[in-house]
Amino acid sequence: MTEKTRLLEKWAEEYNRNQDGAIGITRGEPMCRHTTFRIGGEADLFLVPKDREAFRALIRAARETGTKYFLLGRGSNVLFDDAGYRGAVIGMGGLDSVRVEGNTVTAEAGALLAQVCKAARDASLTGLEFAYGIPGSVGGAVAMNAGAYGGEIRDVLCASTACDRETGEILDLEPEDQLFGYRDSVYRRGDLAVLSASFRLDEGEKETIAAKMTGIMDRRTSKQPLEFPSAGSVFKRPEGHFVGQMVEESGLKGYRIGGAEVSEKHAGFIVNRGGATSADVLALVEHIRDTVRKNYGVELECEIIRVV
Ligand SMILES: Cc1cc2nc3c(=O)[nH]c(=O)nc-3n(C[C@H](O)[C@H](O)[C@H](O)COP(=O)(O)OP(=O)(O)OC[C@H]3O[C@@H](n4cnc5c(N)ncnc54)[C@H](O)[C@@H]3O)c2cc1C
Repeated sequence: MTEKTRLLEKWAEEYNRNQDGAIGITRGEPMCRHTTFRIGGEADLFLVPKDREAFRALIRAARETGTKYFLLGRGSNVLFDDAGYRGAVIGMGGLDSVRVEGNTVTAEAGALLAQVCKAARDASLTGLEFAYGIPGSVGGAVAMNAGAYGGEIRDVLCASTACDRETGEILDLEPEDQLFGYRDSVYRRGDLAVLSASFRLDEGEKETIAAKMTGIMDRRTSKQPLEFPSAGSVFKRPEGHFVGQMVEESGLKGYRIGGAEVSEKHAGFIVNRGGATSADVLALVEHIRDTVRKNYGVELECEIIRVV
């Protein structure tokens, strides 16, 4: 652990003494426990603030101590290195409240997106069904502008509360401030953290909403290799092409490097067939990119975020 990270740990311990344990602190936490890929070595420090104030205080302390940190949602779109993370990983899972007011569902960043979809369904609100089955947190979904089955987060998001990662200031953002693009948003630049997000939905029939969600989940289960750890689609969709089709036509389904394999079920996924290392995944990613470049002249861009 670096001197800076040690200073942040000391700060967090002191904060906890005054604030009744408002930050979960773990040293040497294996990141494979916190990622859907089940890959990743130990983070020097894993910190989980339990409320917004603790989060703000923590990121200010990280800046003041000069500690490098990574903001982790539910780890469904990231690849940590086998060597782990030298610095602090700040897990958002402690901020997880969800509330419904009229046609609006508001959730804190660490709430599971699935929880939000279910809250909308239970309140007979329609519009979020497309997101059912996208793993991960609300903060991760907003940061990634997650989408599926013709919908994207930006279609339903009506407001967000963010925290300036430099000053700790709380900001209310309108949708247009969030610069949404394909799997992209202002949050990807690293200056802001999502604290909460509100989704404006329409009134609907609970049974119809539930049936749509079940249908979407069935499509996922039949098409995606949910039986193995993965981080979802490896590559962004290039204009005019389907990644899965190009990879499959290149004969790469089932191609394996170490424990990492191009899924037999969906060639756009890399799955961890047991004991995959980050090096296995990265080598497989490069092999796929080289093959597709050679066969189709298409440059694939990784959607999964590599954390080092
Ligand atoms: C089986 C499977 C299926 C998937 N299907 C889809 C799909 O259909 N559509 C889709 O879009 N994605 C899909 N994904 C990818 C992934 O689920 C989404 O990108 C998800 O929104 C990531 O959320 P997360 O909380 O896990 O984020 P993480 O993986 O933890 O983080 C992703 C990025 O968001 C940042 N981030 C996280 N929280 C915050 C915050 N509060 N403020 C600012 N930045 C933050 C992180 O720093 C990181 O850069 C799939 C993944 C899997 C494993």
